[in-house]
Amino acid sequence: MKNYIENTVNKSNFFKLLHSSKEGNYNLRIGIIQNSLGSKLITPAFIPVATNASIRALDSLKLKDLEINGIFVNTYHMHVHPGEDIIQELGKLHKFMNYDGIIFTDSGGFQAFSLGQAIEHGVGKIVSIFSKEGKKRNNNIEKLAEITDDYIIFKSHLDGKIIKLSPEKSIDIQIKLGSDILMVLDECTSPLASYEYTKKSMERSMRWALRSLEFFKKNNKGNQYLYGIIQGGHHYDLRIKSTEFISSLPFDGIAIGGSLGTSKENIKEILSWVMNYIPENLPRHLLGIGSLNEIFTAIENGIDTFDCVIPTRYARTGTVFTNSYPFIKDITAKYYNQIETKKYNKPIDENCNCYTCRNYTVAYLNHLFFVGEIAAMTLLTIHNLYFYSNLLKNIREAILQNRYLKFKEQFFKKTS
Ligand SMILES: [Zn+2]
Repeated sequence: MKNYIENTVNKSNFFKLLHSSKEGNYNLRIGIIQNSLGSKLITPAFIPVATNASIRALDSLKLKDLEINGIFVNTYHMHVHPGEDIIQELGKLHKFMNYDGIIFTDSGGFQAFSLGQAIEHGVGKIVSIFSKEGKKRNNNIEKLAEITDDYIIFKSHLDGKIIKLSPEKSIDIQIKLGSDILMVLDECTSPLASYEYTKKSMERSMRWALRSLEFFKKNNKGNQYLYGIIQGGHHYDLRIKSTEFISSLPFDGIAIGGSLGTSKENIKEILSWVMNYIPENLPRHLLGIGSLNEIFTAIENGIDTFDCVIPTRYARTGTVFTNSYPFIKDITAKYYNQIETKKYNKPIDENCNCYTCRNYTVAYLNHLFFVGEIAAMTLLTIHNLYFYSNLLKNIREAILQNRYLKFKEQFFKKTS
């Protein structure tokens, strides 16, 4: 096991821009993020979500095998269980979960959305990914979060206990957890929120960003890094105002959060608004985004890291990524009969070099899902994370060799 004694990383070593280039209208870049344990994350990189300090169905050592050098842990969930004080006592998150890669923590603010307005409005971050767009929620589901000017009030999803999360409290929890990259407390507004609400919320998030930064500056020991978060929904004036404000403060990095509009096209538009205002030398993170199309859009706009539950959540429901159109397939849509089982006596993807594809067939994985064997989820999660990891590696190589446009064209050619 690594020596987890805290070193102070020279601040200039935290993020370095290694390469930047332009292809067509795209601003492409390669960078490196480093933590105090010496782990390196080459960007652009996909950051899988490890809500409870674990990628579901995998353990930390498997992540290293998969060359996953960054994960995204949820502050609210770690606070609810086992609690930041205990984790601090046990040597902080890296030691607690035996993972030395770059650990991002969110602020808990996203849960104000997912446990509050998302339930109320019945939506996700991008409303159109849900078929019942704009429909009001089922009133039987209880809303578990409320927001005031000073804090977010949660009702714990575990035991109903009331939790008040202020900007200072959120940073205090994240400092105790010992994550490498912390986020300021903000509110992720619903795509269905009105202009007036989004504006009010953004202004509150700006005040919270300042309070988060002040608390962080007083308490940071020099080995953690704080990102400010840009809000403003899909409104041009609000996004610009928020970007200018956040970029004017001494954050170590910038995250883009909040509602990204009512369609995937809006992501492109919102990024094109804000990216020019963010200093070149700062790492940029796009919160909660990670479908294949979105990854390309993010990278083309100079995003360095992005987190999303897609590959891991899909894996657990039997949906795997492949290198040809439609890029995903559900291998558990039905229980294969004997003829089909023989037909699927081959890996998920013959061109994939992951542990699962090298060792197991679709016929076997289909069987495991149907009899409810836990190994099925592990094996599919490994495949999907490998797919993402490998895709990002290929994209980075293409950027470095100035053939990104060609690579993208070839990748999506497989759609026909
Ligand atoms: Zn595979």
